[in-house]
Amino acid sequence: MDKYWKTSQKSIIAYAHLFGLAIIAFSVLLFLNFYALFRSSRSNLIDSQQNDVEQSAIKTTSIIEDSVNAIELTTYVLDKMMVDGFTEEQITAYLTEQTEVYTNAVGMDFTGIYGYINGEYLDGSGWVPDDDYVPETRDWYKAAIESDGDIAFVSPYLDMQTGSMVMSVSKMLNDGKSVVSVDVVLDDIQKITKDRVPKGEGNYALVLSGDGTVVAHSAQSKVGQSYLNGTGTLGNIVAKKLFETKDKNFVAQYNGVRYMVFSAPIGDDWYALTVMNENSLYGPLRGLYFIFFIVLIFFVGVISAIFIKLTQKRTEAESLNVQLRSISAIYRTVHMIDLNADTFKEITSTPEISTMLLNGSEHAGDTLKLVMDMKTAEISKKSLEPFLDLSTLDERLKSTGTVTQEFLNDNNMWFRARFVSVDNNDDGTLHRVLYMVEAIDEEKRQRDNLQYLSETDRMTGILNRGGGETKIREMIENGRGGMFCLLDADKFKSINDNYGHGAGDKVLIEIANCLKRSFRGNDVVLRLGGDEFAAYAPTVMNEKMGKPIIDRFFDNINQIEIEELKGRKICVSMGVAFYQTGDTYSFDELYKRADQGTYISKKHEGNYVTFEGKE
Ligand code: GH3
Ligand code: MG
Repeated sequence: MDKYWKTSQKSIIAYAHLFGLAIIAFSVLLFLNFYALFRSSRSNLIDSQQNDVEQSAIKTTSIIEDSVNAIELTTYVLDKMMVDGFTEEQITAYLTEQTEVYTNAVGMDFTGIYGYINGEYLDGSGWVPDDDYVPETRDWYKAAIESDGDIAFVSPYLDMQTGSMVMSVSKMLNDGKSVVSVDVVLDDIQKITKDRVPKGEGNYALVLSGDGTVVAHSAQSKVGQSYLNGTGTLGNIVAKKLFETKDKNFVAQYNGVRYMVFSAPIGDDWYALTVMNENSLYGPLRGLYFIFFIVLIFFVGVISAIFIKLTQKRTEAESLNVQLRSISAIYRTVHMIDLNADTFKEITSTPEISTMLLNGSEHAGDTLKLVMDMKTAEISKKSLEPFLDLSTLDERLKSTGTVTQEFLNDNNMWFRARFVSVDNNDDGTLHRVLYMVEAIDEEKRQRDNLQYLSETDRMTGILNRGGGETKIREMIENGRGGMFCLLDADKFKSINDNYGHGAGDKVLIEIANCLKRSFRGNDVVLRLGGDEFAAYAPTVMNEKMGKPIIDRFFDNINQIEIEELKGRKICVSMGVAFYQTGDTYSFDELYKRADQGTYISKKHEGNYVTFEGKE
């Protein structure tokens, strides 16, 4: 049993370890999966920001391209007009017409197409410069000449009057000295940039031109600043790193804070940029991470708690089973009965009973009756049936916790059935009981033998005082009225004295035999001790009924013949008292009343009986 106990304990522990490992493995798996998800969401975030900046670059490019197209077309036409010798007025008319087309049809935000053509400043918007205006000294002119026929973008500058960023786009004509130009207002780019900035502290959107000038910025005050000149600001750091590496995205550190920079080229050397504080970029993911951890810890906690609880229950159940099995060593069958569900569970059983139960009903009550019918001797069924009634069990087990009933089985072997209460429902009624059957045949026979010995008078074989009195008391207590006879051998001492003690013994044995012969099997006959005997004949209620019995007894006494006595007759004196049905006085009282009769009878020679102490 000890070995079994240890093994079962071990198996639970091994199981617990396995479960623990499974939880850890599951958590790691979950964590890895989540990490992958986190990584992909992270790259999604980056992709989405990158996409935004690229979209913005495309829009910005298209705005600039409008002005490039305008210049390209105009220079192409003007080159022809100059070859064909068009006049200054005709050229000015053309510029005016083109200005209107680009303003109204294309929607370009600019002042107009102007140029220095054939040594004259001509303007499509009708603007007339001051006398000291020298076109050749202007940036738009110089840049175009330097670009030698390619489109020139002149550094954007802040128009102090309008507060807008303006950029000149110009191109030299084929004659090598004439230049056409437009001044594009970059308000649309500023608007796109401003709209693009992601929410959050320290997040910016901007457009840098090739020389590091801030063409557009979500913080409008920064527009016009040059980020490549100077050091120490976030703008400086970002611009320098961008122009050095030309990376699409990179990290810039400023004041101990990490910024993620997304960039997309506009044309040849401009860039649209988004600068994002990493905290605000990854903030939502960090929150997600945190929630995931809390959920994971909660989940593992709950699962572990459930497992610990189950393990505890299992351990309890195992230990209960072990205990039950050890009990079952002395029981043939042990079953746990659930009274609520009227079901039962086998803990141990004989193969025969086990098979019988398997084929029987699943209801505990029906099954008990079935087995009883098949396996119990007829004479035991009457006492066993009420004992097996489960509906009265609650009441019967209330005070004692266990009840038993002995019975003979179909092979006439003695068994003891026992119910033991196991636990109660919340309302205090019985929930489960153990039903156990124990083989007690040998024990029962030994016990019966001992009882027989303790109740029997050795010499005569009839009941002794203790055994006989108990039976008579039981009868009168159960209201079984009858005739009580008390008798004493006459002059017995002299028999002993004259014929020896052995002869005296034989006389006593013969008197007992006479009693047995004269009374019925169910009557009680006993030796009170010495030469005193008694008998109780239930249902014999009066002298008329009793007299024939006494006469029969006296006849039998008369016939006693014992060799040693050499013909000497045995005589007894008897007193009789009747216990009427309904009487309540004690056995001792009954004895006294009979004894009075004995006393009277002693005064008479020969066998003599006195009824109810009457002379
Ligand atoms: P009475 O007629 O008045 O009854 O006189 P008695 O001689 O019978 O006197 P009593 O009943 O008082 O004495 C009973 C005697 O029985 C006393 C005792 O020596 C004797 N006796 C008691 N037990 C036994 C026994 O087991 N065997 C024998 N042989 N004699 C016994
Ligand atoms: Mg006597």
